[in-house]
Order: sequence, then C-alpha cells, then structure tokens
Amino acid sequence: MEKSIIKDKLNRPLRDLRISVIDRCNFRCQYCMPADKFGPDFVFLPKSALLTYEELERIAKIFVGLGVEKIRLTGGEPLLRKDLPILVKKLSQIEGLKDIGLTTNGVLLPKFAEQLKAAGLIRVNVSLDSLNDKLFGEINGRNVGTQPVLDGIAAARKAGLGVKVNMVVKKGLNDQEILPMAEYCKENGLQLRYIEYMDVGSTNGWKMDDVVTKKQIYEVLKGKFELEALEPAYFGEVAKLYRYKGTDSDVGFITSVSESFCSSCTRSRLSANGQIFTCLFNGNGHDIRNFLRNGATDEELAERITSIWQGRGDRYSDERTEETAATRKKIEMSYIGG
Ligand code: SAM
Ligand code: SF4
Ligand code: SF4
Repeated sequence: MEKSIIKDKLNRPLRDLRISVIDRCNFRCQYCMPADKFGPDFVFLPKSALLTYEELERIAKIFVGLGVEKIRLTGGEPLLRKDLPILVKKLSQIEGLKDIGLTTNGVLLPKFAEQLKAAGLIRVNVSLDSLNDKLFGEINGRNVGTQPVLDGIAAARKAGLGVKVNMVVKKGLNDQEILPMAEYCKENGLQLRYIEYMDVGSTNGWKMDDVVTKKQIYEVLKGKFELEALEPAYFGEVAKLYRYKGTDSDVGFITSVSESFCSSCTRSRLSANGQIFTCLFNGNGHDIRNFLRNGATDEELAERITSIWQGRGDRYSDERTEETAATRKKIEMSYIGG
C-alpha cells in the first residue's frame, strides 16, 4: 500500500495507533478505575457502541496508509473482548504494519497466549505493580494475588511473545516495591518499565505529591545496581532505557510527568467507543464510528483522519501543573487505554 506521511502542527508524524477494544475490566486498580467510582452500578458501553472487528480492521488499514507502523491493543482489559485473536489476525494481515502489541493485566494470558501468537501478535506489556500478594490485591481492588499475573507472563514467554512488565509507582502505595520488582525482573530476564503515576481521567484523585519521579526511582536503583543510559532506538521511543552494567538486561522509565516527551509524540488513540484522541489528556474526541456507520468512504475516512492529525497541537505533559490536572476535561484511562 502507498504510504503518505502526515504531520501535525508541531511537525510530528503519525506513527503509532493505540486501540482500546473494550472499556470493561476484571480489575479495579486504584490509580485507574477506583472501585468506589466503578462500582456494580457503573454503566459500561453497550456492545453496539464498540467498533466491530471489521470496522477496526478498516480503520486500521487507513491509519497504516497514513503512516502508522505500530498498533497496540489495550482497554479496559483487552482480553475480555470476545475472540481477540480474530482481530489480531485481521490486523496482522495489513500490508505495511510492522508491529502489533497488547497491553494487559495478564490474567487471561494462560488461556490466550498461544492463539494470540499464532494470530500474529508480536509483544505484550503486562502490568504488575507489586510482588507482594496482599498489596497487589489491594491495588487491583479485586484481591487478586500475583500468581495469576506471573502465570500470564510465563504463558506469554512460552508462546514466544516478547514480554515487558509495566509498574505504575504511586507514593505511599507501592514505592517500597521498586527494588524487589527490579531484582525479580532482572533475574527473570524481563524488561521492567516504571511508569510515573499520571493524572488521567478525573476519578483517581491524582496529586502531584503522589508522583514518584524517574529521578527518585533511579536513586533507589543506584543503591543496588550500576546503570548505564542507552540511546533511544528510534524517534518517538517513549521509555528512557538503562542497561544493568555488564549484562544484556535493561530497565526503562516512562517519565510522562517529570520529563515530558510531547515533542516526539507520534501516537494517536482510538477509544473503545470509536473516537479518535490526539493526546492521552485531551478530553475532546473526534467521532469516527458514526461517520463510518453513516456510509463514509475510505477516502473520506482518510481525509478526516488527516485533518484531525494536521490540526493537532497537543503537548499536555509539557504544560501540566497541579491546576491543569484538576481543571482540564480528560478522558478516563479505561476508555482510552494508556
Ligand atoms: N488493563 C490493561 C493493563 O492494565 O495493562 C490495559 C489497560 S491499562 C489502562 C494500560 C496501562 O495504563 C497499564 O500499564 C496501567 O498500569 C497504566 N495506567 C493506568 N492508570 C494509570 C495512571 N493513573 N498513571 C499511569 N499509568 C496508568
Ligand atoms: Fe483494569 Fe488495566 Fe485499569 Fe487496572 S490498569 S483497572 S487492569 S484497565
Ligand atoms: Fe503525547 Fe499528549 Fe502524552 Fe504529550 S501529553 S506525550 S502529546 S499523549
């Protein structure tokens, strides 16, 4: 397929697409879907509001024609969406797409890892915020211990998928787990990425004071390990990577709060209800689902996506303050998928 390169107002090309396939989740992580806000009465999207796999395939093809090389599936919990390997298979057949990843809490990987790999999935990022069962159960709000997630990681590796581990660090919650997680991941050959706690959505009660910065995490690691910085492998690489000296293992940091990386942000997001978001923190989505369902042609869809991207000037993390975090209208993480 002929690829065009489109750039936004800050000259950033469109390279990545993150697709949230479902807004539901089997966890209620405190920093993402707090149980008191996402209780039994919470109304999730009806099935008819979700883009079908055929619609997602069509939109993904158009994005790839406009420059997207990588797609990541996320949620809510993406493995709760029925028959996800069918979608992966459809996406993996798109000419020009180089990479398909999945972000998951890992619990359903023992059931799906082999099928996902066979369908063309390349990598998974598994979220795990603690190795302590009691604490992990409190964080995920469902009292699920670490074993189901560790089993998920093992299943993904056995299936031949690339595996990274994501740990959100929140002050006073799991900062004591920084070192045990590093030791565990290093010993088991897993790349760990520490994620700074972010002010996504408006339900998690985020405060700047709750953020443990990359610098603070790095200081903890330095007490035990010798680290050397690695150069970014490509424009737009989000994680800042360090190698444990004298080994092949590395560790990464997603510094969305303390060292923003908006100037190289090449990522577009498609929410579970079919809206395009040009920034994780921009509450104004652009409808694509109804446009498509009302009979838009591929050319019209491509024109619309192009004009959305060309009109993009987002750099929220560059501008974030305690005040913007509290006052800006923002989309919930479970809709947009991180
Ligand atoms: N359910 C899947 C999972 O947990 O991996 C996929 C969706 S989840 C919204 C995607 C990523 O966002 C996860 O790595 C999660 O830890 C991260 N995340 C959620 N809330 C966050 C927050 N407030 N700050 C930083 N990262 C967050
Ligand atoms: Fe669910 Fe993932 Fe959010 Fe946790 S971080 S509540 S697993 S969507
Ligand atoms: Fe990209 Fe928005 Fe995050 Fe900046 S704040 S890196 S523009 S998603």
